[in-house]
Amino acid sequence: MIDVSQTINYKVFTLNRPNRVVIDLYQTEISPQLKSDREKGLIKKVRIAKNNRNRSRLVIETDDIVFYKVEKIAIGSNPNFRIIIDLKRSYDGSRRLTAASVNKTNLIVAIDPGHGGKDPGARGSKVIEKDLVLKIAIRLKKLIDSEKGMTAFLTRSDDSFPCPGKAKNCSQRESLNERIRRAKEGNAHILISIHADAFSDPSVRGATMYALPDSKKIPKGSNYKVMYHPKSRVKVKLNKGVSNRSFSRLRPSQVDAYDQSIDLGNFILQEMKKDVRVRKLTSREAPFAVLKSTQVASVLIETSYLSNKKDEAFLINIKNQDKIAKAIVRGIKSYSSNIKRELSK
Ligand SMILES: [Zn+2]
Repeated sequence: MIDVSQTINYKVFTLNRPNRVVIDLYQTEISPQLKSDREKGLIKKVRIAKNNRNRSRLVIETDDIVFYKVEKIAIGSNPNFRIIIDLKRSYDGSRRLTAASVNKTNLIVAIDPGHGGKDPGARGSKVIEKDLVLKIAIRLKKLIDSEKGMTAFLTRSDDSFPCPGKAKNCSQRESLNERIRRAKEGNAHILISIHADAFSDPSVRGATMYALPDSKKIPKGSNYKVMYHPKSRVKVKLNKGVSNRSFSRLRPSQVDAYDQSIDLGNFILQEMKKDVRVRKLTSREAPFAVLKSTQVASVLIETSYLSNKKDEAFLINIKNQDKIAKAIVRGIKSYSSNIKRELSK
């Protein structure tokens, strides 16, 4: 928080190498009592200096690429003119997934069967989405639990609509946030939301994978911005001084990783296409609420179309539900081995 005795003009921008949020404060003098705080959380260093006659510059150096938000409070509602800079870690989910994937000891998967209870989702001629996706989710949980080094839990395990606390009813948005909350609460590294599509054109068919780049995981209506978008092609690497001998106990802070939701989605899709008709061979971006968690890498799978007769017939067959679940497990495993290869380079 910056307090100024009068209303001023200011400008905020970011720089990289090192990561910095810079706030230029015009027509200001720096109070001699001002003390800069020591290293704390995301903040590595804070510097303030009068860098020309008209302007003081505050530089916040961060240890990571962050989401930042700047708000002001006018004099009147506050004794001083106040500028509030809010910082939030952006790529935690990618780092946590990377570390857990190479450790192979505690990869936790939250499986989210879409809809439920009052919300049936898409309707086919023989099955409704909420029932179908629950069956696939339960199957997937069993398969994951039988794998070494992996466990799974469900965001709903019956025909209920997930709502916060003890509420029996809530809005769609509240339910989606609750699903993310349950994933976080269970310390999940991965959130897999399972759905089935419907479309006005019954000829449209096939499965679709959705995932978001980390820089787009900003909730709707929030004023956060991301510092900058990394341009490097290397999406995962070990931090300096970390050896790949520590692979059984790698910590998220020891890797630099981003956009792992997308990579995970692509690996699952690669496996799915062997047994399931897919619409596109890469993950698509869509601003679905469950994909926006910055803490948990997340993908949403539309297992194909209940509005298409052939897709529906495929989906209601238990053997095919099993194929989908198995493909997801293979996808997670091939993602993990690939990450290990990438980090060993
Ligand atoms: Zn759905």
